[in-house]
Amino acid sequence: MRVANTIVLASTNRHKFEEFETLFKKYPELKIVPVQDYIRNSEKLGLVETSDQYLENAMAKARTCNHGCHYPSLADDSGIEVMALEGRPGVRSHRYAIPKFGQTQDQANMAKLLDEMKNVQTTQRSARFVCHLALVMEGTLFHAEGILEGTIAFEPRGVEGFGYDPIFIPKGMDKTLAEMTPAQKNKISHRALAVDLLMSQITNQEIVIARP
Ligand code: IMP
Repeated sequence: MRVANTIVLASTNRHKFEEFETLFKKYPELKIVPVQDYIRNSEKLGLVETSDQYLENAMAKARTCNHGCHYPSLADDSGIEVMALEGRPGVRSHRYAIPKFGQTQDQANMAKLLDEMKNVQTTQRSARFVCHLALVMEGTLFHAEGILEGTIAFEPRGVEGFGYDPIFIPKGMDKTLAEMTPAQKNKISHRALAVDLLMSQITNQEIVIARP
């Protein structure tokens, strides 16, 4: 299969675009472009997550974008799963808590999670980040999953990154993701692993999961 060199990212989230742009730098033959540059009124496209399955959400967004612009289209859905909470917040990670006045969504999410974990001991605080990527290209759908294992800290630490980074300590490390540089996070993150897996599938021309 030919690998087209422009991939449209099916997300209107600028932060996400910058992270993917950085992750794809190691594949210089490919150029990631934001959906806003290829589809007029892209915010009305309906790039929404309605399923309780990461893969379904990623596939739906990639297909919608591909139908709109006919370029290879990439989408992701990700979340954090805490073992002591039976996998919550999972696919609902983004809007886990309702922010109080003056609180950001990320602050509210972390505060809720830490409160639910306040009686959970160090040895029971395992968690993982999960990322599902879907790429629709030339009538074919590729899928890859990346996982980053770790534990939930007792309080937020660090200022880098976003989301739950200040309370997530990757396995074998003592810093939270928010205490690492973006370059350090990008070497180990669930998104980085999923991108590398996706690229190996494309270049090996394997893993055709379904027809869009
Ligand atoms: P979505 O993939 O846009 O649905 O985002 C899911 C949510 O999971 C984000 O809003 C974050 O709260 C959380 N999340 C996903 N990846 C990360 C990460 O790398 N660091 C911190 N939080 C993340």
